[in-house]
Amino acid sequence: MFEKILVANRGEIALRVQRACRALGIRTVMVYSEADRDARYVQLADEAVCIGPAPSAPSYLNMAALIAAAEGTGAQAIHPGYGFLSENALFSQRVEEAGIVFIGPRAETIRLMGDKVSAKRAMLEAGVPCVPGSSKALSDDAEAICREARDIGYPVIVKAAGGGGGRGMRIVHDESTLLNAVTTTKEEAGRAFGNPAVYIEKFLASPRHIEIQVMADTHGNAVWLGERDCSMQRRHQKVLEEAPAPSIDRAAIAVLGERCAQACVRIGYRGAGTFEFLFENGQFYFIEMNTRIQVEHPVTELITGIDIVREQILVAAGERLSFGQQNVQPRGHALECRINAEDAVSFMPSPGRVSAWQMPGGPGIRVDSHVYPGYVVPPHYDSMIGKVISYGATRDEAIARMKLALSEMVVEGIATNVALHQRILDDASFQQGGASIHYLESTICKT
Ligand code: ADP
Repeated sequence: MFEKILVANRGEIALRVQRACRALGIRTVMVYSEADRDARYVQLADEAVCIGPAPSAPSYLNMAALIAAAEGTGAQAIHPGYGFLSENALFSQRVEEAGIVFIGPRAETIRLMGDKVSAKRAMLEAGVPCVPGSSKALSDDAEAICREARDIGYPVIVKAAGGGGGRGMRIVHDESTLLNAVTTTKEEAGRAFGNPAVYIEKFLASPRHIEIQVMADTHGNAVWLGERDCSMQRRHQKVLEEAPAPSIDRAAIAVLGERCAQACVRIGYRGAGTFEFLFENGQFYFIEMNTRIQVEHPVTELITGIDIVREQILVAAGERLSFGQQNVQPRGHALECRINAEDAVSFMPSPGRVSAWQMPGGPGIRVDSHVYPGYVVPPHYDSMIGKVISYGATRDEAIARMKLALSEMVVEGIATNVALHQRILDDASFQQGGASIHYLESTICKT
């Protein structure tokens, strides 16, 4: 087992990974930018290394600084968390070339699945159903692009092959705006993701977002850990997630989960990963795979009792998965509310000093956050500052516990989106379960 792991991330996930390491008796090297000097996980670290100034580019995205920090401290492995370099194949490759273990899949797997076009192709070959659309990136041939969109049928969505974070997508309703949308998305994608390739697929009118959590070791074992419903989204970004997905045929999910696990074996997947699907009219359509730990992993942990981050570390150290498919027996229901430092109505980011911070507790409540009273939310990063997760024997109990938890929360000095979560939890359609990915934006955000 590793003696020392470097955590190449910040915020709540840095703390989450640190907790998993400490529980395994592994020493942690925490890195920080100048803006994160006072973080609690930095104080709790066995060693801490400043990797650069506040902006992400010279710090959390600085491969050379991160690898030098690992080499300088003798860390044997790097956990990338989510975001930043977690899905960067070059980073994974450089880490391994330096003789350090990357806690995640091999660089070639990240490359294959990081390109949404090649990922879809690989999944089709593995028998996983995909959203109808291009089988390769679009060429510059205007006539061919129009023909392809016509064949798929409008509305279509133009997507960046290398896109992420809900960016690099454009819905097109008819041919008159298609070529313009393709050009703009290409330009944007080149700038934002360093890859101008785009493709088109059918725009599904009112799907749900359902995803399958998988785990694979390097001994040929792969399992799926149930599904999550992440349909509550704003600007293609998840706001509230839950597991299991309400009112979905269990037999259909089991078939899909098995296919995902088999796909992992087929592509030689290693570690934790998520297959994302849109679900409409009883059909699942693969959209992309995330080759890393996800923000919403705790809902799966609560219903399965499996510590996913711990398993990531064990698998990276070459151990076999500590459980088999027969040991994955989801029980009860879990919800996660992402707490963002932003106005609950205007969604404007709200960085600054957190003058008061009181978190909820009690049966079935888990809070994952690095924030403490007096903490300053830096303006340089994502606005998510923590997650409140609730567990109940039933979905209704998980909702009731979440409502109680949010009512106990005190956050002063910055604005948060807690009031938005309260509106979601009070909403009749949400309570019924099964709302589409457009529901939050088209209904709750408008009221
Ligand atoms: P990202 O990598 O940026 O997260 P995804 O491909 O996972 O991008 O898509 C994110 C979200 O965008 C989905 O959850 C869904 O809300 C919406 N979306 C993506 N593709 C489609 C589609 N073909 N039809 C309708 N909505 C889509």
